[in-house]
Amino acid sequence: MHEMSITQGIIDLCLQHAGGHRVTSVDIEIGQLSSVVPEAIEFCFEACSRETALEGARLTISRPPGAGQCLECGKETTLTELYGSCMHCGSNRISIVAGEELRVTEIEVDD
Ligand SMILES: [Zn+2]
Repeated sequence: MHEMSITQGIIDLCLQHAGGHRVTSVDIEIGQLSSVVPEAIEFCFEACSRETALEGARLTISRPPGAGQCLECGKETTLTELYGSCMHCGSNRISIVAGEELRVTEIEVDD
């Protein structure tokens, strides 16, 4: 399962960062254009964090919108879905520049 390995990566990163301390909360960003399903990450996080320093940590997922460059009018546009249209001219010919990323933005450690 795709989300399982992603979540394991997030957990490994947090464990490294925490250096043996208990992690109380983790904030992650999943771009709105990402194919990753946030609910699946939440589910996997709970399962994968069991019996680690992350057990019981609060997971907060935010979904920043994507950005693209319109190939018709040349302007930058906000994208809330992968095959969205340009907010300026309505074109579907858009080159995606951001929004597919998944990253950890904050880790809180109990010390
Ligand atoms: Zn346009």
